[in-house]
Amino acid sequence: MSTFQAPKGTYDLIPPRSAVFLAVRDAISAQARSAGYGYVETPGFEDVNLFARGVGESTDIVTKEMYTLTTKGGDQLALRPEGTASVLRAALQANLHKQGNLPVKLWYSGSYYRYERAQAGRYRHFSQVGAEAIGAEDPALDAELIILADQAYRSLGLRQYRILLNSLGDKECRPVYREALQTFLRGLDLDEETLRRAEINPLRVLDDKRPDVRKQLVDAPLLRDYLCDACKAYHEEVRALITAAGVVFEDDLKLVRGLDYYTRTTFEFVHDGLGAQSAVGGGGRYDGLSEMIGGPALPSVGWALGVDRTVLALEAEGVELDLPAATSVFAVAIGEEARRLLFGKVTELRRAGIATDFSFGGKGLKGSMKDANRSGARIALVAGERDLAEGVIQVKDMESGEQRPVAPDALLDAVRAILG
Ligand code: ATP
Ligand code: MG
Repeated sequence: MSTFQAPKGTYDLIPPRSAVFLAVRDAISAQARSAGYGYVETPGFEDVNLFARGVGESTDIVTKEMYTLTTKGGDQLALRPEGTASVLRAALQANLHKQGNLPVKLWYSGSYYRYERAQAGRYRHFSQVGAEAIGAEDPALDAELIILADQAYRSLGLRQYRILLNSLGDKECRPVYREALQTFLRGLDLDEETLRRAEINPLRVLDDKRPDVRKQLVDAPLLRDYLCDACKAYHEEVRALITAAGVVFEDDLKLVRGLDYYTRTTFEFVHDGLGAQSAVGGGGRYDGLSEMIGGPALPSVGWALGVDRTVLALEAEGVELDLPAATSVFAVAIGEEARRLLFGKVTELRRAGIATDFSFGGKGLKGSMKDANRSGARIALVAGERDLAEGVIQVKDMESGEQRPVAPDALLDAVRAILG
């Protein structure tokens, strides 16, 4: 062990588990790519005000969880706690919205940072794959994103997750509801901080996870009873479209999310095998965000799915992903001359696109064959002095156990024949 450890609340991805993370990222992004979303990558840090304004001054993310820093040049930056504000900023900066074809559909994948109370499923460095559809108000877009996320989890083999759906209203109806909720909250027995939150962003109080607070919220007014006709119709259309797609969801009338920018459609994917950290992904519509960060009106919708918790969910369900073996061929050489010959063959196979590994470190036959086994390779190539003298390389099919000598020039074809 070294003197150093990964910082508190973080962990390293190492083989073989790291392969599962890659597969999860792949499975999620495959859905976005299949639906016309283009890849976007933004910096790991941004002007702190992008998040203060975009995510919201009263959110936990901004008040408690952001890693902020001042550069030597005096700039105030924050490590990104989420992706949406950055992606929208990037789209606006590149004028993607002015190029005529709205919505702009983008997906991303990366690391996010929040100074949280570290526990299982809640880390200070975690990774998300996200998708955003910018610049269109169309219930089919909200439905598309929910269906794609569902398909991503489904394609991974997850079954024990639920989709929670709600509408948060818009700038017409939400203020009326906000008033009603505030009046209700003022009458409760809440601590000072929560009361303050009730004044700044009362909807956030609905997201309080403490049992004593939850108990008092049972009779809270519901946004559903305040939705304007336009929001009601929009929400019904989203519900109808995902229902028609065969996606099962639950109406959760108290669902709000930890970010201020959400309007109308709001959803969360929760997994029942994860204990308290049950949200594996979430998203919704954020029609006001662009204007909040100085852009034009661009109604948009998106989601971010947590890779770490998705992997935990797979483990909780006991799902084994069908991961292809990293190595197809493993070459075992005994003696200097054989090493030279086989190392050349390894390079040749790799150049032909065949994943190949080599017995490094000058181990004997037994140790090297163990390595070949461990690698999961379908084929072992073996060459020692006697093989060299006979001008052959032994090609062993690790599945059938069959072994036959092959001339070096015929090796590539022989390997291809076995791999099919
Ligand atoms: P929670 O309610 O659990 O704090 P959140 O609402 O803050 O989640 P989002 O900001 O919506 O989460 O992020 C989307 C997804 O990213 C979450 O559903 C979760 O899977 C993942 N995520 C968020 N924060 C963390 C974290 N600290 N560690 C690991 N995964 C996280
Ligand atoms: Mg959170």
